[in-house]
Amino acid sequence: MRDLLGGKGAGLAEMTRLGLPVPPGFTITTKACLAFGRKGRFPPGLASQIAGGLEDVERRTGKRFGDLSNPLLLSVRSGSKFSMPGMMDTVLNLGLNDETVRGLAALTGNGRFAWDSYRRLVAMFGRVVHDMDGHAFERIVDARRGLGAGRKDSDLSVDELREIVAESKALYRGTTRGEFPQSPMQQLREAIGAVFRSWNGKRAVDYRTFHKIPHDLGTAANVQAMVFGNLGPDSGTGVAFTRDPSTGAKTVYGEYLPNAQGEDVVAGTRNPVKIARLRETFPDLFEQIVRVAGLLETHYRDLQDIEFTVEGGKLWILQTRTGRRAARAAVTVAVDMVREGLITKEEALGRVEPGHVVQLLLPAIDESAKRTALREGRLLATGLNASPGFASGAVVFDPDEAERMGRDERKPVILVRMETSPDDVHGILHSKGVLTARGGATSHAAVVTRGLGLPCVAGCEALHIDYDTAELGVGDRIVRRGDFVSIDGSTGEVFSGPIPTIDPDFDRETDLQILLSWADEVRRLEVWANADHPRDAVRARSFGAQGIGLCRTEHMFFETDRLPIVHEMILAAPVYRRLSGQVRSLRGERDGAKGDRRADAERRLGDAEAQLKDLSRRYLGSLERLGALQREDFIGILRAMDGLPVIIRLIDPPLHEFLPNYETLLANVVKLSMAREDPGLLVRTARSDDDHKFVEEVEKAGGGDLARGVDVRLAKDELLLEAVRAMREANPMLGLRGCRLGIVFPEITEMQVRAIFEAACRLRKEGLNVQPEIMIPLVGHVNELKVEREALESVARAVMQAEGVQVDYKFGTMIEIPRAALTADEIARHAEFFSFGTNDLTQTTVGLSRDDAEPKFLLEYVQRGILPFNPFQSIDREGVGQLMRICVQKGRKVRPDLEVGICGEHGGDPDSIAFCHEIGLDYVSCSPFRVPVARLAAAHAKLQSGISRSEDR
Ligand code: PEP
Ligand code: MG
Repeated sequence: MRDLLGGKGAGLAEMTRLGLPVPPGFTITTKACLAFGRKGRFPPGLASQIAGGLEDVERRTGKRFGDLSNPLLLSVRSGSKFSMPGMMDTVLNLGLNDETVRGLAALTGNGRFAWDSYRRLVAMFGRVVHDMDGHAFERIVDARRGLGAGRKDSDLSVDELREIVAESKALYRGTTRGEFPQSPMQQLREAIGAVFRSWNGKRAVDYRTFHKIPHDLGTAANVQAMVFGNLGPDSGTGVAFTRDPSTGAKTVYGEYLPNAQGEDVVAGTRNPVKIARLRETFPDLFEQIVRVAGLLETHYRDLQDIEFTVEGGKLWILQTRTGRRAARAAVTVAVDMVREGLITKEEALGRVEPGHVVQLLLPAIDESAKRTALREGRLLATGLNASPGFASGAVVFDPDEAERMGRDERKPVILVRMETSPDDVHGILHSKGVLTARGGATSHAAVVTRGLGLPCVAGCEALHIDYDTAELGVGDRIVRRGDFVSIDGSTGEVFSGPIPTIDPDFDRETDLQILLSWADEVRRLEVWANADHPRDAVRARSFGAQGIGLCRTEHMFFETDRLPIVHEMILAAPVYRRLSGQVRSLRGERDGAKGDRRADAERRLGDAEAQLKDLSRRYLGSLERLGALQREDFIGILRAMDGLPVIIRLIDPPLHEFLPNYETLLANVVKLSMAREDPGLLVRTARSDDDHKFVEEVEKAGGGDLARGVDVRLAKDELLLEAVRAMREANPMLGLRGCRLGIVFPEITEMQVRAIFEAACRLRKEGLNVQPEIMIPLVGHVNELKVEREALESVARAVMQAEGVQVDYKFGTMIEIPRAALTADEIARHAEFFSFGTNDLTQTTVGLSRDDAEPKFLLEYVQRGILPFNPFQSIDREGVGQLMRICVQKGRKVRPDLEVGICGEHGGDPDSIAFCHEIGLDYVSCSPFRVPVARLAAAHAKLQSGISRSEDR
C-alpha cells in the first residue's frame, strides 16, 4: 500500500479505517506521479478521477469547491514510500479566490482569518508552482507589520491583509507574467502537478542520494479538506510524538501552537508551547491527544510522529508516521517495546541502526573541560536541547559554505541559521551540528538533525544572527564566521571556542547492552577486535570482543623508550646479514681449499668472524632487549584475553619506517656540515619551533657544547642517512615488508615468536587458557609461508620444550595479495587460519595506493560517481569481494575447519560485515570502539539473510 499511496496516504487511509478524525480526502498514487514525470502531463483518466474524488469530499464535508457561500478549501501534500520530511512540496488553502475569500469571511465571521488564508495561498502557490522566492512574499508581510513597532502577524487588520493579498498578487503577476488563477480547479491541478514535480527537486534528490532511497519511486499527492488551526483561541496546531524522540521516555512529547497553521510549527518561525502544558489549559484536548497517540502507537507498534490541528475545539489528525528518533531513543524505545510485548527481539534489533550505536558511543563532552569553560565565562547562551550529542566547529552561516567546508575541505563546521528549512539540508548534511535562533523541538532543524544523528541546539533566542555581516551577537559578544563554537545538544548549551571530548562509558549504556545481548543470540559471525596494547584488549573485551583478530606487533616498537633499541637493531640488521653470508661462504672456501689458499681463507674468515661477533653483540643484544619488552606486552594481552584467541601478527612494515625520514636526515646533514666551521650559524638561521628544538638537541649531544654537539650529531646522522639511503624503496608498499622481512632477517621474527611463546608458557603455568595464533603477513606464494612457518614453529617448540609446558596455538596467514587469494588451496595446507587484510588486499587488487589516492583523487572519483563508494571504507564486492569468496571456497576445500576472518578496516563497516556473513567468514575484527556496532551489524546480516551457519558452509 505504501508503494502506491506513499507513507502519508497509507497512514491517512489506515487512520480513517481506525475511526480517527481525519479530514476527508483522497490520494493520487505514485504511479500517476511517475506517468506525469515521463509525459509532463496527467495520465488519461486522472482528471475525471480527481473530479470524482472531489465530489466525494464535497459530499462528506457538506461544502463545495469554489462555492461562494460555503467554500471547500483543499490541501495537496506530497508523501512518498519513505519519509522525506520537508523535502517535497505542499500547497494549502486551495479554492480561495477573490470571491470565495469573502464567502469564507462571512461563513466564519472572521475576515482576518479569511484574508490571511488567501495571502498564504498566493505566496505558497507562487513558491511551489512557479518556484518564486518565498522571502519576497514575506517581505511584503514584514513591511506591513513594520508599520507598527513590535507587531505580530496576528496584529494585522483585515484591511492590511487585503492590501497584502493585492501586493502578493502583483508580485505574482510581475514574476509569472500571468494572473493568480481564480479557478479553483486550475489551482488544484497546478498544485498536484507541482507536488509531483517536487519529487525531482534538488533537495529531494540530494536527500534520497544521501539516504540511499531509490529515485524511481515517485510521490503520491494527498488531496484533503482543509481544517484550520488559526480560527481563534480555541484552535491551534501541533505535533505529538508518542514517546520522547530524544530520550525514548514513555510520555507523549510534542508542541502546540495556539491559533496557527501547521507550517508555523514545522518552519519554526514561532516558538510553540510544550504539549504537556495542554494538560492544564485544555485538559480534554490533552486527554484526546494521549488517547490517539496510544492507539496509533499500539496499531503501528512503533513510535509515531503525529500532526494534528484543532479547529474550533475539534481535534483533527492530519498525519501519522514512524517518528524519527535520536540514537538513545532508538535503543530505549526498541528495548522498552520488547518489554511491553509490543514487538519481538528481532524487530527491536531491526529498529536500531548501526549508526545509532556509533552515535551512542561517540566521544562525549568532557565535563571537567566544560566546567572550565563555564568558569572562563565561555557559555554564550542556552537554547533548546533539540537533538542530543556534542560538537565543536567553525561557525558558518551559509549552507553552501557548510557543504563546501564540511565535505570538500573536511573541516568541522557548525551551521548557524535563524531557522532551517529544507533548502538548508545539503549544508546540514556536512555540518557537525546545527544552531538556530528560532524554532522548537519539533522544528525542521530539530527533526532533521535527530534523523541524521547530529547535535542541534534550537530556538536559542539570545542569538542575534546577521547573515549580511556573517556575525553572531550574544549580548556584547560577537562570534564571527570561522570562529569556533561548541554546542551540547543534550543540554542546549552553546560555548565559544572548542571543548575537548572524552571516550564514552559503555558500562552505563544498559539499554544498549540489553539490545546487544539479543544481537549476540541472533548473529552467527563472531566479533573480534584489533588491539595492540593490553589496555585496548581489556576495553575490547568489555565491549564484547570474542578474540583479538589483529595485534600489530610493530606498534609496540614505536614507543619512545623502545625506538633507540629498534634503531640499533635495524642499523645492524643489514650488516649482520651481509657478514653472516660472508662467514658462511668463507667457511665453505676454507673447507674446500688446501695449503696457502686454505691459510688465506682461514685468515679472512677469522677477520670476518671477529667483526660478526662484535656486531652480534649489538644486533642480537638489541633483539634480546626488544624480545624482553615484547614478552611483557604479550603477557598483558594474553592475560586480558584469557580463554579467547589472540592473533599476533609478526612485524609487517618496511624497516625504514622506524627510522627518521630520509629528507629530514639529508637536510640535517647539510645544515650540520655547514655549521662545522661556524656552529653559531645553526642558532642564527633557526626560524621554526622545529629548528629551535634541533639546536637544543645538538647542544645536548655535545654535553652543552654546541661545537662538539655538531660533530657528534653529524657523525650519527651521516651514519643513519647512509642506512636509510640503502633501505629506501621506490614502492615500499610492495617492497621488503611482511613475511619477506622474516625471510631476509629471520632473527627478528624468531625473537617475536620466542617472546610470544615465553609469554604463553608463563601464563599457561599460572593456569590461564591462552590461545595464541601466529599470523604471517603479506604472503603471496605458498613457499613464503612454508619457509617461515617451519623456521618459526621450531622456535615455538623449542620454547615449549624448555619451559616444559604445551600451549594450544595456530599458525596462519593474512590474505593481502590477490595471488594468495587465488592459490588459497595451496596456502591452506600450511595455514590453520586466514585473515583478510582488506586494507592491503584492496590496494593490491584495485591498484590504488590509499595514502596517495584518498587525498588526491579518490574522493573526487566518488563524488563524480566514477566509483560508487570509497573501496577502503566498504568492501568492493565485485572485485575484492570476489577474490575473498574464491579464497574461502578454495581454502575450506582442503581444510574444512579453516578459521577465516577479516581484520582490515572493513571489519567494522556494516555493509562489509553483511558481506562477510554472506561468504561464511567466522569472525570480523575491528577496533575496540566498533565492536558494539559490529555485534549489531552481524545480527542484522543474519536476520536479513536468514542463513544459518550450517547452510553457509
Ligand atoms: C590490512 O592490510 O588490512 C591490515 C590489517 O594490515 P595493515 O593495515 O597493518 O597493513
Ligand atoms: Mg596489511
